[in-house]
Amino acid sequence: MDSRIRLSGITRQSVVDGLGFRYVVFAQGCPHGCKGCHNPSTHTFEGGELKAIDNILQEIRKDSMLDGITCSGGECFEQAEQFAYLAKSVKDMGLNVWAYTGYTFEEIMQSKEERKGWGEFIRYIDVLVDGRYEEDNRDLSLSFRGSTNQRLIDMQKTLSTGKLSLVAI
Ligand code: SF4
Repeated sequence: MDSRIRLSGITRQSVVDGLGFRYVVFAQGCPHGCKGCHNPSTHTFEGGELKAIDNILQEIRKDSMLDGITCSGGECFEQAEQFAYLAKSVKDMGLNVWAYTGYTFEEIMQSKEERKGWGEFIRYIDVLVDGRYEEDNRDLSLSFRGSTNQRLIDMQKTLSTGKLSLVAI
């Protein structure tokens, strides 16, 4: 695995990308092409910057205010091995992990054996916000998501019970 991750940016302290104080890592590269996407500059897989994951972890470790990290995009499942390593290391620090993806939960479960790192990455995610952004279903009143098709999934409960479990926020 490459010890670097291709990112479009980092927000070091956010309160809008999940519950609590969060370090947000934005992946560069997204294949979904959602109409009305707010971050079209994150779509190309050649752009952004390659960052050493261990340097990111060092920064996270130094900030005692953080509740967790959020893996956002772009599409973080296109670099799932790197995000799995980042997420596992963050969980080892006692922090929680949120992840945004344009894939649906069902698509991820269907392909988790074939796609590199997918099966591992989901094991370390606490809250998965899934599904493409659908402009026609945009709803500004929703917490932490843009359109009504997207769900906040309690991944740990879902994986342990085998039944899709949503987070009520
Ligand atoms: S998944 Fe996210 S980054 Fe990718 S096109 Fe859709 S809204 Fe944009």
